[in-house]
Amino acid sequence: QAPELPQEDFIFRSKLPDIYIPKHLPLHSYCFENISKVASKPCLINGTTGQIYTYEEVELTARRVAAGLHKLGVQQRQVIMLLLPNTPEFVLSFLGASFLGAVCTAANPFFTAPEVAKQAKASNARIIITQASYVDKVKEFAQENVDVKVMCIDSAPEGCLHFSELTQADENDLPEVEINPDDVVALPYSSGTTGLPKGVMLTHKGLVTSVAQQVDGENPNLYFHSDDVILCTLPLFHIYALNSIMLCGLRAGAAILIMQKFEIGLLLDLIQKYKITIAPMVPPIVLAIAKSSETEKYDLSSIRMVKSGAAPLGKELEDAVRAKFPGAKLGQGYGMTEAGPVLAMCLGFAKEPFEIKSGACGTVVRNAEMKIVDPDTGASLPRNQAGEICIRGDQIMKGYLNDPEATARTIDKDGWLHTGDIGYIDDDDELFIVDRLKELIKYKGFQVAPAELEAMLIAHPEIIDAAVVAMKDEVAGEVPVAFVVKSEKSEITEDEIKQYISKQVVFYKRISRVFFMEAIPKAPSGKILRKELRAKLASGNY
Ligand code: AMP
Repeated sequence: QAPELPQEDFIFRSKLPDIYIPKHLPLHSYCFENISKVASKPCLINGTTGQIYTYEEVELTARRVAAGLHKLGVQQRQVIMLLLPNTPEFVLSFLGASFLGAVCTAANPFFTAPEVAKQAKASNARIIITQASYVDKVKEFAQENVDVKVMCIDSAPEGCLHFSELTQADENDLPEVEINPDDVVALPYSSGTTGLPKGVMLTHKGLVTSVAQQVDGENPNLYFHSDDVILCTLPLFHIYALNSIMLCGLRAGAAILIMQKFEIGLLLDLIQKYKITIAPMVPPIVLAIAKSSETEKYDLSSIRMVKSGAAPLGKELEDAVRAKFPGAKLGQGYGMTEAGPVLAMCLGFAKEPFEIKSGACGTVVRNAEMKIVDPDTGASLPRNQAGEICIRGDQIMKGYLNDPEATARTIDKDGWLHTGDIGYIDDDDELFIVDRLKELIKYKGFQVAPAELEAMLIAHPEIIDAAVVAMKDEVAGEVPVAFVVKSEKSEITEDEIKQYISKQVVFYKRISRVFFMEAIPKAPSGKILRKELRAKLASGNY
């Protein structure tokens, strides 16, 4: 009998060769490395006002912002928080923090006051940059934390600073800072595979690597270049837009068209007016375009690349939208905040030799390794077998802020980040996502952490136990629904529970249905058996 050989890992890599990545550079130096070639070119275009900021202006203003933050007492490695829609000030603040060696955490401006306060507190934010209409959301937090400053980009309501304090600072007052490649620069919040939202520490080296993986190279069809005009309608507070639009756009020297709010008519108008070439989207926007009867009225022929990510995109929808942009290629990418975020990208944008496969979400990025593991045994699997997708490389997060246990649950001792997504890699190295192992719910690409809603439900005096899972939804992809065990004499209704939650959370975390039960199914360890609840929903037996 042949001796049993140790099992070799099946490791997948990009079809393209590795590249040189200048990982020693701080993120802003890397983004502006080629600025001399694009100094007077448009960098940011404000889609609302039409105002254009050149590369030279953006770079200089960002240094002034850094000097201004320093003057206000923000130190290296301290955190600034952004509570802003997509605006040039968002980009300038992020870059300013990077120049100073500070960290930027951004929250959804639609968050409720308690949601904002949670993130501001957990990240230990020193200053919150927002706009006048959102000041009410941070007032209480700022009153309780008197050393936290609040700044507005549009005016200076009582007790607030004005953004001009930063932009009018003298860039020569910016002290010399020594930035280590492993220093954190961005701190998005994500619940990852389980539990509450956590601060995801993305470093200079991590983001430089991720951006290089996406845009560094000579293929003008595959990568962004300085003639591109990139649509930025996805929210910059989410890492998808922050990295794959803003940072990638800056590195390529492209123009970034900032759209504050998604509105289909305006979007089509802007595509035509500014001859947008790259349109990064999420499935609900793809759906809106596919269904729109307005598209025929516009010249959309400038678009060469339509990208979709952040949630699954069905084949029918892919085909429907392809028909609307006949001159463009449409491909999917796959990201996860903790992975930096891009794990796989579509190589079919290149003229040849790759093709775009419907339903695939790309090939693993360069300078990285991917592995598909059996979730029960941990064994790595060969092609065409589905298992948990794992990734390794310099682009992944450093860890969760102040949470070594959650970090160790997500990145194993060999450096593999476990995504909680189930997928397989086919014979052409294309990755297909087929399921989600983790509890995360995605409403139109936005994260909903069941643990957060469960904690709120259980805090209600008439609720003994609760579990929140995803229910399929045609428009949102998924919506959160709750299984609730009420206390013995309680007469609480579905509507009352929904309202109780709605008051506390941003719109996409609202509970869509409530089902009452005798007991929540749990494993002996106390873990909620979410699979059982999802099966109940799928069978209609609730
Ligand atoms: P986030 O950290 O908010 O970017 O969410 C990451 C999660 O979104 C992933 O772990 C996947 O579950 C899901 N996701 C991202 N991109 C895709 C895609 N192209 N297809 C299916 N699911 C995706």
